[in-house]
Amino acid sequence: MEPKNYTDLKKITKIGVFTSGGDAPGMNAAIRAVVRTAIYNDLEVTGIYRGYQGMIDGDFTAMNRRSVSSIIQKGGTILKSARCLDFRTKEGRQQAFDNIQKEGIDALVAIGGDGTFTGANVFSTEFNIPVMCIPGTIDNDLYGSDYTLGYDTANNTVIEAIDKIRDTASSHNRVFFVEVMGRDSGCIALNAGVGGGAEAILLPEVNTGIDGLVEEIEFAEERQKTSMIVIIAEGDKNGGVYQVSKQVKEKFPHLDVKVSILGHLQRGGAPSSFDRVLATRMGYTAVNELLKGNTRATVGLRGTAMITTPLEEALNTKEFKLDEELLEIANIMNK
Ligand code: ATP
Repeated sequence: MEPKNYTDLKKITKIGVFTSGGDAPGMNAAIRAVVRTAIYNDLEVTGIYRGYQGMIDGDFTAMNRRSVSSIIQKGGTILKSARCLDFRTKEGRQQAFDNIQKEGIDALVAIGGDGTFTGANVFSTEFNIPVMCIPGTIDNDLYGSDYTLGYDTANNTVIEAIDKIRDTASSHNRVFFVEVMGRDSGCIALNAGVGGGAEAILLPEVNTGIDGLVEEIEFAEERQKTSMIVIIAEGDKNGGVYQVSKQVKEKFPHLDVKVSILGHLQRGGAPSSFDRVLATRMGYTAVNELLKGNTRATVGLRGTAMITTPLEEALNTKEFKLDEELLEIANIMNK
């Protein structure tokens, strides 16, 4: 399907690229791909530091092929990231526009999550500047791409942590409650839970309640399981990891119950092979789509193909991103 936002093809000479919102592994690989694809197409590139804040402050750097050498393997973002309240105001955005005009930037590539997409959509509409977004967030909670940048790496990080926790759990016959990131999205919990062989998984999207978990534990006990790993997404609706573990301890006083919150380590680290390649494809596609006149859209992966989706549609479509079959499989594997 042709994106709806093709505009009159404007000659683009200089692209501004920035990262915004929470950092995610693969953002650097995406910056590198944007810079190199742009230069290949005889465009100039300006790096904008700290997302929308850097736009308002005029915090820019000229980028060339060498400025993105040796960053494909690095976590975080060399352009830094920030959350910027002023960009939510008309005055802030006007200041940002004045600065990018002065710099000669005539198109933008924004890498970030849904807040970043919202800001890009508002800004592009107000000032008629072409913009293409790249979904960068470990949560995998954006419409328009099967996978967001950083999600695969975060899953690998969580699985590695589960493996290590399991060593302790099985040595001491313990039940570990492991909290993973995902305030509204259980994607990491489900995927890493299945990949790490968790005995139970609690997700924000599926409210099994404590009773379901109690049944799982009773069943595990019947099978003489001596240790267990329960994965709980941050946004679980049963009161959070401490509350859940407390309730379980009250029901099963003989169990040695421990809590582990993985926290920000899930956001860092070298991107996986999958994320590096995805980021490179997304950066390449973002620049090429801008050159074709596509604007106010996000690039994404559907199946094996690169696609674009208008930001309006991406921001307004609610998608149940959990793989229903994987949910079913997780239940069978726990039995
Ligand atoms: P993450 O998924 O990690 O939270 P995000 O991109 O959603 O990433 P946010 O902090 O929500 O992170 O958004 C990034 C920035 O986008 C905000 O700090 C703000 O500057 C800008 N932004 C968000 N919403 C709006 C809006 N309605 N209007 C203008 N700018 C916005």
